[in-house]
Amino acid sequence: MISRPPKIVKGVPLFPTGAEKEIITVMKKDVSQKPHKNPSHKSAAPAPADEARENDHKELGQQLDLFAFSDLVGPGLPLWTPKGTILRNLLDDFVWELRKVRGYEKVEIPHITKKDLYEKSGHWDKFKDDLFRIKTREGHEFAMKPMNCPHHTQIYARRPWSYRELPQRYANSTMCYRDEQTGELNGLSRTRAFTQDDAHVFCRMNQAQREFLKIWDIVYEFYGAFGFNLRVRFSRHDPQHPEKYLGDKTKWATAENILGQIIKTKGADTFEGIGEAAFYGPKLDFMAKDSLGREWQVATIQLDVNMPDRFDLTCVNEKGEQERIVMIHAAIMGSIERFLSIMIEHFAGVFPLWLAPVQAVVIPVSEKFAGYAAKVFESIRESNIRVEIRDANDTLGKRIREAEVQKVPYVLVVGEKEENNNTVSVRHYQRGSADAKAMVDKQDGETTLKTLVEKIGKEIAEKVI
Ligand SMILES: [Zn+2]
Repeated sequence: MISRPPKIVKGVPLFPTGAEKEIITVMKKDVSQKPHKNPSHKSAAPAPADEARENDHKELGQQLDLFAFSDLVGPGLPLWTPKGTILRNLLDDFVWELRKVRGYEKVEIPHITKKDLYEKSGHWDKFKDDLFRIKTREGHEFAMKPMNCPHHTQIYARRPWSYRELPQRYANSTMCYRDEQTGELNGLSRTRAFTQDDAHVFCRMNQAQREFLKIWDIVYEFYGAFGFNLRVRFSRHDPQHPEKYLGDKTKWATAENILGQIIKTKGADTFEGIGEAAFYGPKLDFMAKDSLGREWQVATIQLDVNMPDRFDLTCVNEKGEQERIVMIHAAIMGSIERFLSIMIEHFAGVFPLWLAPVQAVVIPVSEKFAGYAAKVFESIRESNIRVEIRDANDTLGKRIREAEVQKVPYVLVVGEKEENNNTVSVRHYQRGSADAKAMVDKQDGETTLKTLVEKIGKEIAEKVI
């Protein structure tokens, strides 16, 4: 699946007599405001700088209460609030759903290692400036892991494998640590602690192409679900600088040839990046264009013929011989933090319903209807929808504004008429402004709870954007 056209779920509100005037004023304010860019307002041209600033993930992250930084914890170390954690977990679960059906298994590893592992992998030398080092009380040198591949090789290396048992596919979303310079840190885009949605496939060379194609499909399905358009960079080694890479020429040629075949098979929008390969192998880098017309490098699939050499990873083939295997590195989001920085700006904080930390808010027009509001709240919550209730301590207008600032997709207002009819009046955030005219049409916004819950449930299940 390449991309999905945005589907529109109609939600036209009804507001009960008495509160009507106040609400219409709130809505009119909304209409006059410049709408945030989101994927339903696609533009081909790059966005003006002020629009990018308006969508800045650092500001939106604070406004939507997704993450925080603390001077005591230190720069580049984001802390995740309950709402931000919901987002992270949903994205990670989505990647896992796509992997699980393709035969991946979850693994787990410690966040530190002895120096020996990175000396053997080559990272101690290549990564020495970025490593957070630890010295134990007994004087042993350890490091915080800046990546997961070397640890994963040791899971594979725990026992001998027959060719019949391959591929082994290990998935592991886990935090990594890099000693970035303070001046280079930037919100969630560049951090010292970040979570890789990592996976490594251990397979024979003749299985690599099939495994690459599977990961390719995961990438397109994942990014397509958010309306990102992708193109692919074929990142090759630079023949002028062989000293930058591990392994011999023949292995690089074989590996690059396999990637070239894959690109041909898929017939995708591709360009070459000479010198963009990882130091251990060539890769396919997926570039996503966001709603502001900016392009980001997101997912990456790397074919590694060198690390299996260094760690002597083999399988026993049909002839009973030890055969060298290959390793595929396959992060889909790359870093969840960085992906979120892109996604928050892409959607201007107006997340698709399935991702919204709060999906609906119930607002009684006055204290008198608090009982009915609580009943509505309970029955929505029982349907597994993330819902909040705003009691009547503040004015109705203020409570609706608050829900809007939080960009809650569904605002459900209840008053006398709704209680009598056993209904709610629905206002949908994204379509609220555009449908302002329809909002005065009182009949259409009133919905039975059953219809609403079914509609929301369907929208979540289909991951509508
Ligand atoms: Zn890796």
